[in-house]
Amino acid sequence: TEEFLRRTDKLSLAGEMAAGVAHEIRNPLTSLQGFVQLIDEKSPEHHTYTSIMKSEIKRIDGIVNEFLMLAKPQPVIMKPHLFKEILEDVILLFETECALKNVMIDVRMNIRHTELMCDANQLKQVFINLLKNAIEAMPNGGLISVSALHYENELIIKIQDSGEGIPPHILEHITKPFFTTKEEGTGLGLLITKDILKQHNGSMTIQSKEKQGTTVEIRLPFLPSAVLSL
Ligand code: ADP
Ligand code: MG
Repeated sequence: TEEFLRRTDKLSLAGEMAAGVAHEIRNPLTSLQGFVQLIDEKSPEHHTYTSIMKSEIKRIDGIVNEFLMLAKPQPVIMKPHLFKEILEDVILLFETECALKNVMIDVRMNIRHTELMCDANQLKQVFINLLKNAIEAMPNGGLISVSALHYENELIIKIQDSGEGIPPHILEHITKPFFTTKEEGTGLGLLITKDILKQHNGSMTIQSKEKQGTTVEIRLPFLPSAVLSL
């Protein structure tokens, strides 16, 4: 137990430090952003450069935000929730973006009354990250099929997109910290997703075919708390 205590102690110290560093990065970043905006207005001839600077500043901000979430995780609050509502709430968040980007989301759920012990906000983050990736994989629009079903003592959720897919040599790297193939990516989305699923004793498998699409399968056990409280 002493070793365990020391470990949690160290972890929270690292979390505190990360939060501090994130804060220290954000302040000068805000000031940079302001001045880049000013240059953009005063000398529009430099727009090519300032627009790159702006998107890079946005990228740093994204990394800091996602890093903060990893380093200083919110306390996990496990409560029974209607799973259907969690998924529906997230899908609603993407409605406008999907309409703009020509993306259709098809939802099939056989889980009207299914309750899951979970932290609803954290699980929402999982589906936000996955839907975001699916949308980003389809720059010219396409279809996302979401299905959820109750099988034995697990909830099985599939998110399938008709996007660009992931080449096999890339697939093995995608959950690594900061691994991204995107211009403005942070490479932290899937890492955070894996972390949250672990806290729920869940699992994730990703299957992909280049130029055809990607399917992410999530499995969540109905009683994760019984294991977590050991
Ligand atoms: P980010 O989205 O910021 O790049 P993620 O951790 O969410 O970081 O994803 C890491 C990488 O995995 C992405 O850059 C992309 O190459 C790949 N990826 C994840 N989901 C998909 C998907 N649905 N379709 C194609 N590639 C994907
Ligand atoms: Mg992502």
